[in-house]
Amino acid sequence: MLDSKALAGIPLIPANTAPPAPNYPWPKPYTSAMFLSFDVDAESAWTSKDPAHAERLITMSYGGFEARVGTPKLLELLAQLDLTATFFVTGWSVDAHPAMAEAILKAGHEIGHHGYHHLLPDPGDPYIEEELERGFDALKRRLGVKPIGYRAPFGEFTEALRVALVRRGIVYTSSFRDDVRPYRHRLADGKPGTIELPVTASYDDWMHGLSARFSPRSIFPKEHVLSLWKDELDETRDWGAMVTTVLHPQVSGRPMRYRLLREFLTYAKSCPDLWITTGAEIAANYQRHEAAKSA
Ligand SMILES: [Zn+2]
Repeated sequence: MLDSKALAGIPLIPANTAPPAPNYPWPKPYTSAMFLSFDVDAESAWTSKDPAHAERLITMSYGGFEARVGTPKLLELLAQLDLTATFFVTGWSVDAHPAMAEAILKAGHEIGHHGYHHLLPDPGDPYIEEELERGFDALKRRLGVKPIGYRAPFGEFTEALRVALVRRGIVYTSSFRDDVRPYRHRLADGKPGTIELPVTASYDDWMHGLSARFSPRSIFPKEHVLSLWKDELDETRDWGAMVTTVLHPQVSGRPMRYRLLREFLTYAKSCPDLWITTGAEIAANYQRHEAAKSA
């Protein structure tokens, strides 16, 4: 039964009080953008659902596919298409698969923070700070990287997390579903938060392309997903807005999903108006706009 007392305590204001996204131009000659990003969870995608999965070797092997096959193949695809992307990598994945993480960095892609154990950020969560700290530590220790971008594991957020990310120097986040252009968060105390590069949920490949014992879903054929992805992209281009992909090497690194992604990215590349780039680049463009406006 619903707790009526708890419902009465919900404030009568929007959950996100950030002002509307500013409508500034994309860098010439582009009139729309794609934030090309991957989430590298490896086995932590599974242990974050249940640490006991660590001993369920077939469940773990879905995640293990990322280092063995998925990530190297995707790096190959990006090189062929001459595209640079952002990879949000969990600290655990970096520690367990250092060669995979180094290969991403060596190929010139941006590395972002994606937690350590891929723990879901939940209200009152005592692990938020430790999870952030351990993620920063793994990226610095293994790769010498101080990330400026953060994507929340399981795409969930709390106010405590928003505040902690600003304090730790994160410039942009990419998890919210509430816009089609970048905007700046406003914290509960009214202070500015990170720049948000909103996620386009239909570009989460997990939704359409992976089914496992502990994550059973329907898998959709290429034509079905390509149709969704192209419609989303083409309408967004007409709006002069941006899309953000949420691709996982344990999904899009599988042959049938790889074929789909290659076709989609080849199409996206053929759109002369579309800026396909990293989160760092889109955030820098936002900062240039903000600076020009306040000057
Ligand atoms: Zn993830």
